[in-house]
Amino acid sequence: MAEADIDDLIEIIEKEGNIENIPKTLPMMPVRDVVVFTDMLLPLFVGRNKSIRAVESCVEYDRYVFLSAQKDSDVETPGVDDVYGVGTIGRVQKMIKLPDGRIKALIQGIAKAKIIEFVQKRSFYKVSVEVLFDVEPDEIDIKIEALMRNVKENSEKLLALKGEFAGDVGELLSHIDAPGKLADLVASNLNLKVADAQALLEITDTVARLVQVNDLLARELDLSTVQAKIQTDVKDEISKNQRDYYLREQVKAIHRELGESDDKLAELAEYKKKIKKCKMPKACEKEALKQVKRLEQMHFDSSEASIIRTYLDCIVELPWNKSTKDSLDIKKAKTVLDQNHFGLNKPKERILEYLSVRKLNPKKKGQIICFVGPPGVGKTSLGQAIAKSMKRKFYRVSLGGIRDEAEIRGHRRTYIGALPGRILQGLRQCGTANPVFMLDEIDKLGSDFRGDPSSALLEALDPEQNVEFSDHYLNMPFDLSNVLFVLTANQADTIPSPLLDRMELIYISGYTRQEKIEIAKQHLFPRKIKDNGLVRRSIHVSPKAMASIVSEYTLEAGLRGLERKLDTICRKIARQIAEGKKGRFNITRQNLAKYLGPPQFINELDQEESQVGLATGLAWTEAGGEHLYIETSIFPGKGEMQLTGQIGEVMQESARAALTYLKANQDDFGIEKEAFETHDVHIHVPAGAIPKDGPSAGIAMVTALVSAFTKIKVSNRVGMTGEISLRGRVLPIGGLKEKALGALRAGIKEVIIPEKNRKDLYDIPKAVKSKLKFTCVKDVKEVLEIALEKAAVEPPEGKAVTKVSGGRKTDTKRSVRSNRKKAKQ
Ligand code: ADP
Repeated sequence: MAEADIDDLIEIIEKEGNIENIPKTLPMMPVRDVVVFTDMLLPLFVGRNKSIRAVESCVEYDRYVFLSAQKDSDVETPGVDDVYGVGTIGRVQKMIKLPDGRIKALIQGIAKAKIIEFVQKRSFYKVSVEVLFDVEPDEIDIKIEALMRNVKENSEKLLALKGEFAGDVGELLSHIDAPGKLADLVASNLNLKVADAQALLEITDTVARLVQVNDLLARELDLSTVQAKIQTDVKDEISKNQRDYYLREQVKAIHRELGESDDKLAELAEYKKKIKKCKMPKACEKEALKQVKRLEQMHFDSSEASIIRTYLDCIVELPWNKSTKDSLDIKKAKTVLDQNHFGLNKPKERILEYLSVRKLNPKKKGQIICFVGPPGVGKTSLGQAIAKSMKRKFYRVSLGGIRDEAEIRGHRRTYIGALPGRILQGLRQCGTANPVFMLDEIDKLGSDFRGDPSSALLEALDPEQNVEFSDHYLNMPFDLSNVLFVLTANQADTIPSPLLDRMELIYISGYTRQEKIEIAKQHLFPRKIKDNGLVRRSIHVSPKAMASIVSEYTLEAGLRGLERKLDTICRKIARQIAEGKKGRFNITRQNLAKYLGPPQFINELDQEESQVGLATGLAWTEAGGEHLYIETSIFPGKGEMQLTGQIGEVMQESARAALTYLKANQDDFGIEKEAFETHDVHIHVPAGAIPKDGPSAGIAMVTALVSAFTKIKVSNRVGMTGEISLRGRVLPIGGLKEKALGALRAGIKEVIIPEKNRKDLYDIPKAVKSKLKFTCVKDVKEVLEIALEKAAVEPPEGKAVTKVSGGRKTDTKRSVRSNRKKAKQ
């Protein structure tokens, strides 16, 4: 329609084609993609030779030509069956030959006709046709009127939707009052598919044709409405994008004007992206984005901006949503524990129980495990083994000496150089939200005016509270409930009690020499060999050498010193190999000194001989059990007592109680009445620089005092531990296992312990019991019976004593042996 002039059209429609004059045989031209309706004015480019000839020959037929639609437009040379049998007789109005040989023709549809026969097929088609007349209704009734109006209105709507000028066409349509003509005009403008248009053409009943056109029109209208909507949406979207783009460019330009570069914008965008990626809780995300916005408004090089940047860096690196998958295979866990640790059956068992419960009920908010024991006994490495067996990451933080609450809970961001607390720092480094988190030396936690770190720690550890642990720096809650906290301590007494309440203590008290030898052979030495790049086959340490390393080069409850000695040996061998020495390295007791120097601890008692006024006590220290000498001297004086050797109040009280007991029972020990008034007493505990305290040296003090007053020697092979009451009863003490191990290390052969500690003997390893004789006593007199040697004592210059009941004979054989050993070294 576009090419047709509206006025022409009106004229054409009004002009009646003179049907009678049309020849019965006409040249036929197949047309592609279009069905020509009567009264339609169609510009055609004729390019195919056959068609050109047909058009050219139309001059002979009073410019009439028969136009038939091609069924398949792809067919280049259509045969008889490739065109529809019903078509339109057209009249060529204008014809121009183009320079390329094609013909441009303007053809007007005159009448519908049906092919009767193909008269000529060569050169071009010629067909004999029969005109088909439309069947018009008898009258235009109201129904037809309504139908026509509907078609007209819809056509206008459609044109309006397509953005074409509805006014003129409306005018054109209003002139038409025959249903057939209306149907043809609308159909020719509907862009119908060839098959649909052909079907319309073949309907001769004009009302039926109009009904069909109405249907097609309605469909087309629907389609166009949807299409128009889609187009508007797309347009909106595009214009919104354009608007945003434009605004963003403007913002960029403003920033550029302010001297801020694109880098800033890139950084801000990066932060936003990272925050989204973290998948933190919504409230936290909101807060983080708020900070990004604040950063946006700041000068980028200002100090405040750098604080916010550090903060944002911290937030986005926290493992909000990253966890490792737990492996809870108990058998495997056992293998991992056994592979890395010798002995330690109880702790291992407890760990496996813990893992089993976690496996059956992962949600159980359990107790927090705390390993208690001297340094170097494997607390950390047990924690590592737990992490390894659960396939979790391991992280360790030492709390020793922490006094400031902010170390746990973080500093507020207003402080310069503020940081999150150690727990969140650890998680940030780990990169997962469920590591095995070891808090070392919980017993060394202090507190002062800067707050109490233990209460902050309580919040972090307590399964009831730690889902929303609040760190001052972060200023938003962080879920710690998936972290597996494992604590370690050297002693349980100093652990803050609210924390202690939530813990399950697992004691690891230290190793016997034999255990140490085994651990060295099975674990430490192979590890050191590997660490130093050596080959196991080329080094051999004889059993005697190993025993000597354990007992003559180290004196400790744990294994750190031993580990260092083994490392020294490996290092020295490594140097020799690096210098070109070949062959096997045999380490024996004889050549051990070459590697480690002379032995540092003589495997004998420090005190070669039993002495008067010197008793061996046993002390518990954080580093394990230790022996402790109590020296006593008496000399003429006024009955005063002096205490030296950095001894604490409790120990001083023990000393006083011991003296009082002695004074009260001097007859029993054969000490003369005036002895106390005419002599001063001095009690000294050597290694004076080390503070010592505790009540358990009570019986050792009485023994030393009695020995000093009676001049009877105290056996150097006997160690003792026990508190004393004024009535001479021996009261129970703690840490027996550690003390026993310490006594063994010190070469003591017999240990006197309070009767009430008999139950603790159950925990003492067999290896220790076979080497140490334990005697349980209730009364000090029993102690003296065992500890004092029965020997003639020279009367003191003063008037001290001679009579002593009990006492033992000196073991002369043992003394001789020990002296011989000393001589050798
Ligand atoms: P702690 O944490 O108690 O101070 P560590 O765990 O650091 O002690 O242990 C010190 C060293 O001793 C580590 O190399 C550890 O592997 C080793 N170790 C401790 N106990 C054992 C054991 N029972 N079997 C094997 N090696 C052990």
